[in-house]
Amino acid sequence: MGVPAHHIPALVVGAMIVLAPWLMPVWVVTLLGYIGLNAIVCLGLVLLTGMVGITSFGQAAFVGLGAYVSALCVLGFGVSPWLTLPAALAASGVAGALIGWLTIRLSGHYLVLGTMAWGLGLFYLFGNLQGLGGFNGIAGVPRLEAAGLSLVDPAPFMLLVWAVLAVLLVGTTTLINSRAGRAIRALRDPIMVESFGVQSATLKLKVFVAAALFAGLAGWLHAHYLGHVSPSPFGINASVDYLFMAVIGGTGSPAGAVLGPAVVESLRTLLRDAVPALKGVGGNFEAIVFGALVILLLQRASGGLAPYLSRWLPQRPPPRAPSAEQTLARRSLPATGSALLEVRGLGKRFGGLVALQGVSFDVRAGEIVALIGPNGAGKSTLFNLVTGVLPPSEGEVRIQGSRIESRSPRAIAALGVARTFQHVRLRPAMTCLENVAIGAWLRGHSGVLAGALALSRREDAQCLYEAQRQLDRVGLGAQAGAPAGSLALGQQRVLEIARALAADPSLLMLDEPAAGLRLQEKQALAALLRELKSQGVTVLVVEHDMDFVMNLVDRVVVLQFGTRIAEGTPDEVRRDPRVIEAYLGGLDD
Ligand code: ADP
Ligand code: MG
Repeated sequence: MGVPAHHIPALVVGAMIVLAPWLMPVWVVTLLGYIGLNAIVCLGLVLLTGMVGITSFGQAAFVGLGAYVSALCVLGFGVSPWLTLPAALAASGVAGALIGWLTIRLSGHYLVLGTMAWGLGLFYLFGNLQGLGGFNGIAGVPRLEAAGLSLVDPAPFMLLVWAVLAVLLVGTTTLINSRAGRAIRALRDPIMVESFGVQSATLKLKVFVAAALFAGLAGWLHAHYLGHVSPSPFGINASVDYLFMAVIGGTGSPAGAVLGPAVVESLRTLLRDAVPALKGVGGNFEAIVFGALVILLLQRASGGLAPYLSRWLPQRPPPRAPSAEQTLARRSLPATGSALLEVRGLGKRFGGLVALQGVSFDVRAGEIVALIGPNGAGKSTLFNLVTGVLPPSEGEVRIQGSRIESRSPRAIAALGVARTFQHVRLRPAMTCLENVAIGAWLRGHSGVLAGALALSRREDAQCLYEAQRQLDRVGLGAQAGAPAGSLALGQQRVLEIARALAADPSLLMLDEPAAGLRLQEKQALAALLRELKSQGVTVLVVEHDMDFVMNLVDRVVVLQFGTRIAEGTPDEVRRDPRVIEAYLGGLDD
């Protein structure tokens, strides 16, 4: 009663942890302590690697920073370790911000190598800096005490670690399901999130710092539990180990951050005891058996253990929109007939290829304008220039009178431009509702911290309500809880329209929205565009289906080989000899 079913596994685990000191032998309690400590670091990796896609081979260095800074402060100033926690966090946080700032600019192999480089760099710094005790480290680091009780005993330490972990797990889960969390989970597609106003680099950096803080916190616990700090637990091996545990547990969910260390540390302990006894050989045999088990494990469960196990556990229901109306503020639309988009002499070259040249046209507020032309005519390129995805090579673009050629996609989105993509850019694993909610990004304010502390609930509800409203509007209301990737391609395009509408645009730019739709769905789409027009939304639409365009739009701009060859009402364009020759030969059939 009262407890949602999907919380039961966590509550059961929590109860077992709390009871462990009374029910379990000391070695199990000690093991649980290490599992918790590793899980704190792995939770940072779930955010950084699982959500954002930055594979870090240097996370142990941040653990080391937290440990060394706290140990030095405690010994240097003779204060209690509790007081040096802020220093440990500050050190790992500031280092995380600096290193992250350098790292997130890299991509692919360079990104991975970058994380290794600073992981190694800090390791050697710990080992070689005068005053850090070299590779022997610092001994005699004061232990944690509370109310006269030492926390060095396995039981109180384990309980402390798991209390910290529980808080971080709740915060991370809350964050993931907040407005900022949805944007974080979409960061793997920076072009898409930026076009809805998300500052992707800043958000990535915040995640990087959060992961460094988690690691620094684990380092602080480590230093004042063991009473000894040396470089080796913070080297590249340890970093690989953390990553390994996170991957085995599953970087897709916070539960994976606990499962991974639990399985790996338990297996190691068991093998260390069992295998030499069985085989009568010591040495690396344990490592080989361990490796074989891991390969088996990953073959059976490639996303890690968490999604594999969660099949048998009660599922968290997909987020749903609140039933009571929650409205977001709307923008005031430009006066009907005023110049909304002005394109002058626009050109774009890709190396030697001239994709667009000297293109000029206007879109006035309240119109539906079609951009047509054969494949490769430059239509999508024009979209990318107007939305700031690509800089033009020449020419001017104005939106409501302001020049935008050198502005970022974010700034252009803020002016009320929302778009869909010819090649859909959805987050396939996120639900339709969550995908659409990303479109409303610029209509909210709450950030990462507010998301983690559940302070953005009201805004989250408003975003989800708006997302559901737009899904209903495009006819996908019933699919709100389904993963976007489960929709047919044509419906995914319609889903992108809902996401663009969630931005409350004054100019809606649709790149081939009707491709892949059946006749009935096309008619529904045309009806929707007419309804939008009647509500004052301006639409610029790229479309191949001439019947669809001719019965819908006010004006047509025709592109061929990157230049504008005609412009006018559908009837004018239909009769234009150049257009007939170039493109529309079969139109009157
Ligand atoms: P359309 O959308 O009208 O089919 P595009 O705008 O996609 O046409 O493409 C216009 C031309 O520009 C094509 O020849 C295409 O190959 C080229 N092009 C588009 N984007 C790029 C790019 N990022 N790099 C190089 N060439 C590109
Ligand atoms: Mg195109």
